[in-house]
This record gives sequence, structure tokens and C-alpha cells, in this order.
Amino acid sequence: MEQDLSTSETVTISLPDGKSLNFPRGVTGAEVAAAIGPGLAKAALVAEVNGRQWDLFRPIEEDARLRIITQKDPEALELIRHDAAHVLAMAVQELFPGTQVTIGPAVDDGFYYDFARDEPFTPDDLPKIEAQMRKLIAADLPTRREVWPREKAFEHFEGIGEHYKAELIRSIPENEDVSIYWHGEWHDLCRGPHFASTGKVGEAFKLTKIAGAYWRGDAKNAQLQRIYGTAWRNEKELEEYLHRLAEAERRDHRRIGRELELFTFSPDVGAGLPLWMPNGMVIRQELEFLALQEERRDGYRRVATPHIAKDALYMRSRHLPYYAEDMYQPLDIDGEKYYLRPMNCPHHHLIYGATRHSYRELPIRIAEYAQDYRYEASGGLSGLMRVRGFCQNDAHIYCRYDQAKDEFIRVMQLHARYYDLMGIKEYYMRLSLPDTANLEKYVNEPGKWLAAAEIIRAAMKESGYPYIEAKGEAAFYGPKVDFMIKSVIGTEYAISTNQLDFLATETFGLNYIGEDGQEHPLYVIHRAPLGSHERFTAFLIEHYAGAFPTWLAPIQARIIPITDRVSDYALGMRERLLALPVVNGTAGLRVDIDASAERMQKKIRDAQLMKIPYMLVVGEREAAEGKVAVRLRSGRDLGPMPLENFLDRIRQEAESRHDVAD
Ligand SMILES: [Zn+2]
Ligand SMILES: [Zn+2]
Repeated sequence: MEQDLSTSETVTISLPDGKSLNFPRGVTGAEVAAAIGPGLAKAALVAEVNGRQWDLFRPIEEDARLRIITQKDPEALELIRHDAAHVLAMAVQELFPGTQVTIGPAVDDGFYYDFARDEPFTPDDLPKIEAQMRKLIAADLPTRREVWPREKAFEHFEGIGEHYKAELIRSIPENEDVSIYWHGEWHDLCRGPHFASTGKVGEAFKLTKIAGAYWRGDAKNAQLQRIYGTAWRNEKELEEYLHRLAEAERRDHRRIGRELELFTFSPDVGAGLPLWMPNGMVIRQELEFLALQEERRDGYRRVATPHIAKDALYMRSRHLPYYAEDMYQPLDIDGEKYYLRPMNCPHHHLIYGATRHSYRELPIRIAEYAQDYRYEASGGLSGLMRVRGFCQNDAHIYCRYDQAKDEFIRVMQLHARYYDLMGIKEYYMRLSLPDTANLEKYVNEPGKWLAAAEIIRAAMKESGYPYIEAKGEAAFYGPKVDFMIKSVIGTEYAISTNQLDFLATETFGLNYIGEDGQEHPLYVIHRAPLGSHERFTAFLIEHYAGAFPTWLAPIQARIIPITDRVSDYALGMRERLLALPVVNGTAGLRVDIDASAERMQKKIRDAQLMKIPYMLVVGEREAAEGKVAVRLRSGRDLGPMPLENFLDRIRQEAESRHDVAD
């Protein structure tokens, strides 16, 4: 305790298990690991000294807490990827002399390095670079760390033509030293830490793509070329990741949306403003019809309200100023300011407030599939997943305090019904509470906040669905519960948001007349279980990989006549399908005929590409016997069956909204 660090010949190293060991001053993490055991020495990647990551070969000059990081630790992946990025840069500079290095960090799922080179890299270069990386890793080049004065480093990198590195050094404070990492003969400016040798990167990596990038992420700067890679602890993890990547590509909602002609965008309309095509509109309508049925059963009533409102409404609702940065700039109409609405609540509040309500009438549930507009940064827009205009499965429930918990539970049960129907198995709720240290961001009413949070928490507990709590993400007018669902490829989506709002009584003067004849405050539950059409459809496209169940499929059956001689039979069949009464459908079935001159196999292939659930092949024999030869989009051939049997089957499937048995 009283020892003088500058002269002591030994240092005390405290280990995570509570033990302490003495070593000569300047001991390295590698030596400590070796003293603990040969297994750890072999597994060691990097040390952590007094909470800071530290190269295994870097001397420790004072008493310290030390932990050895191995592949088993959560930090391992990032370390492997950072080392892989260095090896990538080394390989590129060996293969393409004159290329300048810039920066190369580890990122989610992998790493990249940005290079400055006049000639573009091509996809053919990737296997060559990868092979060179494998050579450098097999050579197991040792790592060395040097510390240089800033000025020396600057002159050195300028001198060897690494102008980007020199510029990075210039942004480091003047009196600071900089660290240089050597791997064999190659070196890079880097904070570290790095493995003791290149061999530790291992074999489980792959270069994935080339992309453009700007120096320091600024479009005004020089354009660079970015090479992406992925690296994992072992081959199995790499294989799993590559499989996930391929699945994500196969299920990409933007590509499928284009191929199945579901939606499109136009620069003349604007970014983030989708145009729904007839096939996509079918999905919207079926979802709306489902919601209409479920909500009617749950006592909701429909309304319709305009897309715009004056600033006065949003001042009252406190969207201005609390939410202004997410709203479009106002329109000037006859000298007054009108906003595109970001939410529907204020309009619905006006409907509730237009008449007096007694305690007996509550809860009152007002629903609308309503169009909203929000300003999203253009960089964040992505297909239907992040848009600027969207249509929400919205409703507001006006209830007494004593009804709030049960109403909230009903809303959660509604979510579960939808998710069960669509085969969404993994979901949980996330309760967002205000950051109590930062309450001015929210409406500053701690007592009401806590009461509302308690009701939601009790409802979540009682519902039995899984939930977590998160701090600091609540809406400004009350605690919120997001329903998080996991897609088949493991991506998590916040699909719907529910709020318990205590503010509407104050801002909109909403209340009800109690048994005592007096006005009483109320709660508003904001809910949107199917989220927006845009986000929910994007999710469903990915979920089903475009192969929608019969009730959602834009075209449910395609008739494929083999010869012109059966065209009357085919037309008659189409009439039957179009007129088939479907209890849960809007009217009849969606069916078409492929009367083209193509061969049957080609017609079947085309229908499969459009992911049409049923192909109904008819030839003279089927026509004569009143039958139809049924094929599924999976390629399964159900063979000929009486037309009546098929009609029963498809009607049942559409009505039950169950998946087609591919
Ligand atoms: Zn580095
Ligand atoms: Zn609302």
C-alpha cells in the first residue's frame, strides 16, 4: 500500500477469482496467463488491465487488476474482427501497391476497411485478397507495438504517401503520443489492442462485398472504396451467419415487393412515400378486413378524419413543440398554418369531446385505418420498413381509471390473436419508462407517470405474455409498451406501440360524467396492433418469403388451360371461383387464367414465381369429367379432383386464414 511504484521491482496482479500474484515489473498479460495455466495461455487473446483492453505482449508497470479475454468472452468477436481488418489492409497493400489505407473498424457481424485507390476493386478481387489474407494468417506474423511522438508519426506517414493516416494524426492533440502496430513488416496507426500474432484471427472469415464510402463519412470529401468482411470464432458460426445472410437476401421485402408487383416508389412523388400496386393493395385490404372483424367483436367503432390540421390542434396536443422535429413543415393555406398529421390522436380526441359521455358508456373505442406523415431523415428510409407516409391500424380507447388495466389486457390479447393467426411465435413486450433524471423531456408529472406505469405493469403481469422494462424511451404523454416480434431470420421489429395517456383530460378537456353527476378525468389507451400497413406488410413479406397464405395472396388461384378447346370450361371455372362466397373475405376469390400460348411447364413456372398458392391445370379430360388437376406452388401435385372438392378446400382455407399446406 505504501510502496513506491517508481522503484518497486515487483507488481501485484489481482485476478478475477480474488487471488493476487506478484510478478517482476514489466510482466505481460501473456506471462500472467502462462503462470495461471497452459490452457489459458493458449486461449488468451487480449488482456484487460484495470478495465482497459491491453495487448498480451504489452508490459504492465504497476499493480493492476487483470483479466484474460478468451474466445469465450463477449469481447472476442470484436477483437477478432479488428485484427481481421488489419490483415485485410495488409493483404490489399501487398496485392495492390500504391493503395492508401484509411480506417478499418469492427462493425456488427464483421469488419471493413476503407481504401483510397484510383482503380476500382472488382468482385473478382475479393477471392484473391481473401487468399492473401489466409497466407498472412498462416504465417502467424508476430505483432509489435511502438509509441511515437505525434510529430514523428505525422512526418513518417506523410513521407510514405499515407496522407489519410497523416491527416488522422493531425487531429490528435499535439502533446499526445501515438501507437503504431506492426504485423511482421507491415504497420498501421492504431489505438489497439491487437492479438500477439496474425494466426489468432483464425480461418472463420470471409470477404463479403465492395461498396463506396466517403472519407470521414462526408459526401464533400474524397470517395473511398470499402471492402466488407465477416469474421467469427469458428467455421460453424461463420456458416450460420452466411446462411442467415442468404436467407435475409432471399426474403428481402424490397426485392420481393418489386418481383410480386406489390409496391413501388417514384422520385417524383418523393422518398419514403410508397405507391401501393394492385397486388399490394390486396394485402392491405385483407388486413383491414381482419382488423374490422376483430375490432367490431371487441366493441370498437370506426371514424374517418382528415390528413391535415391547423397548428392550433398540435399546440393543444403538445405535438408542438414536443414532437416538432418529427413533423413535416407546415403548409400555408389562406395565411394559416396546416400540418400533415403525424398521429391521429388529436383528431380522435375531438370526436370523443364532441359529445358528453356518462360513466356507463365507457370504455369508448374509436378506430380508424389512418394515414400519417412523419419526417424521417432520408438516410434512415428503407423500403416499406421506414417511410415518411404510412397508414396506421389506429384506435383510441377512452376509459375510466378503474377500467384501464382490463382494457390494456384486452389490447394485448388482440395482439396475441393476430400473431397466433400469422404464425408469429416469438414476441415480447417492452415497457418504456421515463428517465427520471431527465423528466423535462416528458410532461413533468411524476405522480401521474408512476400511476400509469403501475397500471401497465399490472396488466402485463396479468396477461402472462413475456415482457421487459426499458428506461428513457417513453412517449412524452405517458408510458408506452412496444410489441417486439422476431422474424424468421432473427431480426427484431418494434411492430406496434401502445400507450396509456393521462394527459388528454388536461390538454383536450376530456372527461366523463360520473355517478355523482360530476366531471371525472379519464385515461386514453393508444393502440395499433397491426402497426402500419407499410411496416407490417414489409414484415409479412419477409415472414412468408412472399409465399402468402391463401387469404392474403394477391392471386389465390391461376387456371392453366392446356388447350384452347377447354377455354369455355376454364371461363366457367373462373366464374365459380369469383363468385364463391367466402365468409372472411371481401367477396369471392382472386383468380385469373393464363391463356397465353406458352407451354404448360412454363405457365406453371410463371405462377410459381408469382407465388400463387394454387395452379389449376385443365385439359380435355378434366373438362369432360368436371375435374381440375391441382398443383401447389411448392411443386407438389395433388392430381385431379372434382371441381367441387377444390372449391370446398380453397374456401375453407380462405375463411380460416390458415396457411396453405405447401
Ligand atoms: Zn487496429
Ligand atoms: Zn394515439
